Amino acid sequence: MRKLRKFYETYRRHWQKLLRNTRLQIFNTTIEIRIFAHCIIKYAITALMDLEKQLSDIDNIGNDHVGSSTKTPLRNDAFDLSDIEKIASIKKDVQNIMQTLGLDLTDDSLRGTPNRVAKMFVQEIFGGLHPERKPKASTFENKYKYGEMLVEKNITLYSTCEHHLLPIVGKAHIAYISNGTVVGLSKMNRIVDYYAKRPQVQERLTMQIVKELQGVLKTDDVACVIDAKHLCVNSRGIRDIDSSTVTSEYGGKFKDAETRRDFLDYIQLNTDFEGV
Ligand SMILES: [Zn+2]
Repeated sequence: MRKLRKFYETYRRHWQKLLRNTRLQIFNTTIEIRIFAHCIIKYAITALMDLEKQLSDIDNIGNDHVGSSTKTPLRNDAFDLSDIEKIASIKKDVQNIMQTLGLDLTDDSLRGTPNRVAKMFVQEIFGGLHPERKPKASTFENKYKYGEMLVEKNITLYSTCEHHLLPIVGKAHIAYISNGTVVGLSKMNRIVDYYAKRPQVQERLTMQIVKELQGVLKTDDVACVIDAKHLCVNSRGIRDIDSSTVTSEYGGKFKDAETRRDFLDYIQLNTDFEGV
């Protein structure tokens, strides 16, 4: 409103001067009303255009799969409800979606769907939102003094795109160079799985895995590459079945071109152990 008043004042002064000079004072009031109306319309149009641009920007962020932060955007009250309460609430929401779509929920095949989906959201595919499910990272002393890079590759990854709630399926490859601490191999798979089991963007997932391992291993020398297919790109929208997305995060020594090259070469190794 302050902007509007200022705009009006400027306009008014300008026109008053003009009107005085041209001796059209008699029409002053009528003209001012017209000018004021003109200002309001112009202001409203500008405000609407701004709003439209903001909304389209939000939409584009989702469509382009651009993440907004390294942390998963959670509210402070995210865990006020128990899992059972969440399942009950989501069940109603899924029922509502299906009903709105016109589906017959009394049909045997559909009857159990709302409950199944609610349980799957809370306990499985979004189970990694809950900090209590974070894998306990048991670390060990690096007794054998192995000082080279350790690579855990081809970790199968199932996640969910947070912009469309459709699956992301891919492989994660992780490497670290120990500075005295090592971690059980399967822990790396579990860390990938924990962060994958949330609504995600691939860039954030890659960074979260690296950050977590850096904390566990007490070193910056951690790297992660993820190659994944996003069903929101492959099965709908542009429907490009062949494209996949590669993201990488390199910490510490992995920022050096040579170390990074070694890591990427290890990933290329063929590990089809036929018959094993
Ligand atoms: Zn998506």
